[in-house]
Amino acid sequence: ADHLLEYPTSHTEMNWNEFFPAYFKEDGTPVYPDSDVSSVRFLDVGCGYGGLTVSMSKLYPDRLTLGMEIRVKVSSYVHEKIQALRQHGAAAATPEQLAAGKPTLYQNASVMRANTMKHLTRFFGRGQLEKIFFLFPDPHFKRAKHKWRIISPALLDEYAYVLRPGGIVYTISDVLVLHRWMDSHLEAHPMFERVSEEEIENDPAIYLVKNSSEEAQRVDRNGGRKFLAIFRRIVDPDER
Ligand code: SAM
Repeated sequence: ADHLLEYPTSHTEMNWNEFFPAYFKEDGTPVYPDSDVSSVRFLDVGCGYGGLTVSMSKLYPDRLTLGMEIRVKVSSYVHEKIQALRQHGAAAATPEQLAAGKPTLYQNASVMRANTMKHLTRFFGRGQLEKIFFLFPDPHFKRAKHKWRIISPALLDEYAYVLRPGGIVYTISDVLVLHRWMDSHLEAHPMFERVSEEEIENDPAIYLVKNSSEEAQRVDRNGGRKFLAIFRRIVDPDER
């Protein structure tokens, strides 16, 4: 249950060493300060079995990607998977890479068991994230359950807060009513604007959004459609 989840009182108290030991020292200070790998930049909300988290970390070796997943067994599965991938990554590294002292493959991927609907701002500071992913979230069809949907006006305020200006929210679903819900809430929110088709086509992350997660592969097997809604956190001229 939720009361067993651990979370810091503030993102500044958060020690990421447990999650990214190659990037944070035991006392929690970054190994590479003033760089893009000094904090988590990509967040996979409800990462499930972690297909996107893992493939984003490979595509973007100079960013830290975190998956958040509420189910205990599923998050432990992803944890084990990443540990195994890290071992393979270390074993496959060339002597030159090892001599350069840079982290090997998948050290920049991690998973946390967490309820993103509750504790997001305990983990991330204002403007910290560059990308947030919502891949095939649970539809919660019944009206009484709509409050459990992972996109809502109140939660969009939080996502806008933790995203840097210009940061991107990616949503995808095979459930048309849920897609319309996410799309219309993002469209209506003053801090988000729609990303153009052209920009979407040129975004290397899109292929992974459509294809890398376990749920995307299930939709393919069942011959379902995939609906994308992709929005940018606006650059507000009044913001300092
Ligand atoms: N994104 C993955 C994919 O595309 O394969 C998983 C999709 S699955 C249908 C939705 C996932 O979101 C489930 O694993 C569920 O446990 C997780 N989830 C639901 N609510 C959550 C919450 N509040 N915080 C974190 N994870 C959540």
